[in-house]
Amino acid sequence: MEERAALLARVSAGSGTEIKDPATGAVIGRVAFGTPDDVAAAVDTAAAAQPGWDALGDQDRCAALMRAADAIDAHAEELAYVVSREQGKTMNGLGARYEAAGCAAWVRAAASTPLPVEVLVDEGSSHAELHYRPIGVVGAITPWNWPMIIACWQIAPALRMGNTVVQKPSEYTTLTGLAIVQVMNEALPPGVLTAVTGAGDVGDALVRDRRVGKVMFTGSVQTGMKVIEASAGNMPRLTLELGGNDAGIVLPDADPGAIAEGLFWGAFINNGQTCAAMKRLYVPDAIYDEVVDALAGIAAKVPMGVGLDEGNALGPLQNQMQWNVVNRLVEEAKARGARVVMGGDPDAGAPGYFYPKTLIADIDNAAPLVQEEQFGPALPIVRYTDLEEAVQWTNGVDVGLGASVWSADREKALAIAARLQAGTVWINSHGGIDPRVPFGGAKHSGYGLEFGVEGLKAVSVPQVISG
Ligand code: NDP
Repeated sequence: MEERAALLARVSAGSGTEIKDPATGAVIGRVAFGTPDDVAAAVDTAAAAQPGWDALGDQDRCAALMRAADAIDAHAEELAYVVSREQGKTMNGLGARYEAAGCAAWVRAAASTPLPVEVLVDEGSSHAELHYRPIGVVGAITPWNWPMIIACWQIAPALRMGNTVVQKPSEYTTLTGLAIVQVMNEALPPGVLTAVTGAGDVGDALVRDRRVGKVMFTGSVQTGMKVIEASAGNMPRLTLELGGNDAGIVLPDADPGAIAEGLFWGAFINNGQTCAAMKRLYVPDAIYDEVVDALAGIAAKVPMGVGLDEGNALGPLQNQMQWNVVNRLVEEAKARGARVVMGGDPDAGAPGYFYPKTLIADIDNAAPLVQEEQFGPALPIVRYTDLEEAVQWTNGVDVGLGASVWSADREKALAIAARLQAGTVWINSHGGIDPRVPFGGAKHSGYGLEFGVEGLKAVSVPQVISG
């Protein structure tokens, strides 16, 4: 066995459901999936560990999290191997090693962001200050696209603030979820971080457990709405990071050659399976053909294939369900007369869930590929003549996670950015995140913020001490 495969072997069960590599179909391990009954035991453990973890104090908790980040670094290649084999992403580029390195960076950031007591009033005998106390047990529910780093985004701030955590990975990427929890637990006291495996019913049971005081949920809008409903009986606090349909608007003064690479990776990062990837692109008539040609030139050079092959930069889709979504949306676009610039011709008989890099031009804004989230490597490029129309189209969907404006004139771009209904608007890039900068959605993309000091506040109870 390869040395870097040791962690994957450790988290695999001896019996249970076979887990297959999405690039090849090879069996990579097994999972003994849990049931809703397992949630109560996991919450018991977390609830029992919480008072001691809180009593440890902020400094010692941060030190433990720093050691957890060191453990992630020490196992980075093994973690990257698990996520590449289970999720499909490439080891190189914006892939598995990048995700493993990001995990350590976000855990360190959660442990080193200051959150001092805020003095609100200090006048004579009047004194009021704001403290942030632990909530108790946090339920962390993650999707399959960035299964390791999204878990860290939820786990690390929650632990920092004195909560204990029960993590529920997606059933599609359970081995990765177990792997990151096992590695972090090398540095954490027992019971502070536990994983429960299983499908949606296990996530639902976690949301409904009366001892869970906060649910961090990242996933689809549809499931997010179910989480809201399930939370009504018990009122856990919620942070919801849901799907998006991010638009990019290119302004007429942009240089097509200069922006093409940023546009490509903004859309195709992780094969488009990224919440805040650019999922539709609006380009003015005046430079439309140049932008399409420049994008196609970049896309043609990006190698797609098995993630473990060091030469590849894009892998397969993670699962059949997502492959079907992408294929349906592209087929519908073709049927409406849109122009296939590249891709759109998957080899359905080939092993793995590969879908070719696809650029669809001369597509109308009403097409399902524009209106729905494709979550895959197929970018619709819509032509506009009136910038007002592009702004309306951008805002004309129910979701609002991110958006971007591409221009040689920053002031012009800023004026458009201010009018876009999105949690983040990037100028001349798309999708970049930073552990110091809060991230969250508008409209149906969810509520609550992650990262930075806002992210710490979101996993705690504000308490005013007055007098
Ligand atoms: P899902 O919403 O299907 O699943 C997310 C998680 O919720 C999984 O662990 C899933 O378990 C679990 N789950 C399913 N049903 C329930 C339920 N009733 N109650 C509680 N938990 C439940 O999303 P995907 O995994 O398919 O992820 C893709 C989606 O996530 C995309 O739409 C994408 O845009 C969005 N996303 C958003 C991000 C953001 O930050 N805004 C980041 C990443 C993804 P199981 O998989 O086992 O069914």
